[in-house]
Amino acid sequence: MVLGVLLILSNSLFAAEPSSESIRAIRIWPAPDYTRVTVESDEPLQHRLILLRNPERLVLDLEDVDFPSVQQGFAGKVSSSDPYIGNLRVGRFKPGVVRVVLDLKTEVKPQIFTLAPIGEYGHRLVLDIYPIEPLDPLLALLQKPEPKMGQAFGKSADGESSEEPKGEARPNNKQSRSAKEPAGPVVNRLVTIVVDPGHGGEDPGARGRRGTREKHVTLTIARKLKSLIDVEPNMRALLTRDGDFLIPLEGRVEKARRVKADLFVSIHADAFVKPHVRGSSVFALSEH
Ligand SMILES: [Zn+2]
Repeated sequence: MVLGVLLILSNSLFAAEPSSESIRAIRIWPAPDYTRVTVESDEPLQHRLILLRNPERLVLDLEDVDFPSVQQGFAGKVSSSDPYIGNLRVGRFKPGVVRVVLDLKTEVKPQIFTLAPIGEYGHRLVLDIYPIEPLDPLLALLQKPEPKMGQAFGKSADGESSEEPKGEARPNNKQSRSAKEPAGPVVNRLVTIVVDPGHGGEDPGARGRRGTREKHVTLTIARKLKSLIDVEPNMRALLTRDGDFLIPLEGRVEKARRVKADLFVSIHADAFVKPHVRGSSVFALSEH
């Protein structure tokens, strides 16, 4: 009788103990356009993100995680040159909840999402920290010193549909690029091509039969084109927009003029009423 009661008691004690998930890895990739924080674990993480103003902070609560593994995972990961994260603290908020506080350098627009395990990666909780105003790639170029000749400019743009986080591909990109550089041809002039994805923001452009918006198609094509141009040692490509926002036509041309572009390519994906029609249309400015 007594033995039975004791058994039940110890069973319920065991069940009440929170199973805390150990963090596999934490990665932080700072970049001018956004900083990506990835928390990798064997099981999906219960989380909550809170944005606080004055001063700007992001609070990430992780439920039922092993506190030391979070603390060790974040230790020394924030770079002082990170454009968005100033400081990072990890604390025990309440039983079963580990709180990560990110002190921010500027106002941000965070995005949080999860990625299912793939290949060697486990469950990933991804926090992307974007600036409130999307970075103007052309303005950033003008503020930077001229790139060295013979060096590929910019980084390759990944497709948005890619499941792999962009940030995780960065180290490999760098490696293959720096390995390629010394063998590259000698270049004495850099050709600048401005790639202009048509439409954007409140101007969706044409609409496909299944509801595809032209503004999204043009951006995807423009990013692909840019990555193709950027691997050429004597070329660099710049996008007039690298996000879903509208730039008036004069603004697009002005951007091309400011960087003294050799070529301005505006991308459109027009819809047509007859589905059997194939091909592309080219518009050229005629001065006659
Ligand atoms: Zn169009």
